[in-house]
Amino acid sequence: MDTSEFDPLASPYNFCDRRCERCPLTGSCAVAVRERRRDWALRARGIDPDDPEVVTAEMASELDLAVAIIEDEGFTSDPGPPPPEPIELARASRRSRAWAMTMSVLAKQVRGAGEGARALELELLSILLGPKVIRVLAGGEEAFEVDGAPTLLVIEKLIEHIEATLREVESVLGPHGDLVLERQQRAELLALVVHRRSDVPPGLRDRMGALIASQRAPSPFCVVPCATV
Ligand code: SF4
Repeated sequence: MDTSEFDPLASPYNFCDRRCERCPLTGSCAVAVRERRRDWALRARGIDPDDPEVVTAEMASELDLAVAIIEDEGFTSDPGPPPPEPIELARASRRSRAWAMTMSVLAKQVRGAGEGARALELELLSILLGPKVIRVLAGGEEAFEVDGAPTLLVIEKLIEHIEATLREVESVLGPHGDLVLERQQRAELLALVVHRRSDVPPGLRDRMGALIASQRAPSPFCVVPCATV
């Protein structure tokens, strides 16, 4: 497997967790720069960029723009009937939802115990892992080198964060049935991709390791204090 042409810094947003507020690349990443420009433009017009109505309208206009670009290039934007979902993706989607639901139940209990920051962390993690697993499965062999393999590294990093956060949760809630359920559901979800870990090229691991060591990898590999971003 040749990943020598793959540059993790060329499009770091393809294998990050989109938590730009703690990412060391926020000054250079095209996605973060674009979002910042958009926020400035909205604020200049007296509009709150985080208003849910504004976010929804923005997503709709981005979709229209994407469709216009596709049609300008001579392609049709009508994808036709969707292909049948491979059974593995359907399984991943089901397991991902079940796991996220348990994380959300845990978050509610942690919030009820007065630990709002930990509850928020659980909620943020709960929406990340499943889509990453699905991305590895959905990409297929051709995309694995430049997308699936780095995404597997993201998954490994997310698991470290999840386990550290759940250890804190256990210190708050004590031994708890939902913590046992979470572990079981997470193992079932990860079982769908764990066999691919050995396919991650050592060269990619080495390059990511060097980027992490120099704090030049995206969140969640590197996490910088917000004040320095
Ligand atoms: S988390 Fe980092 S790499 Fe990802 S979109 Fe935000 S700034 Fe870019």
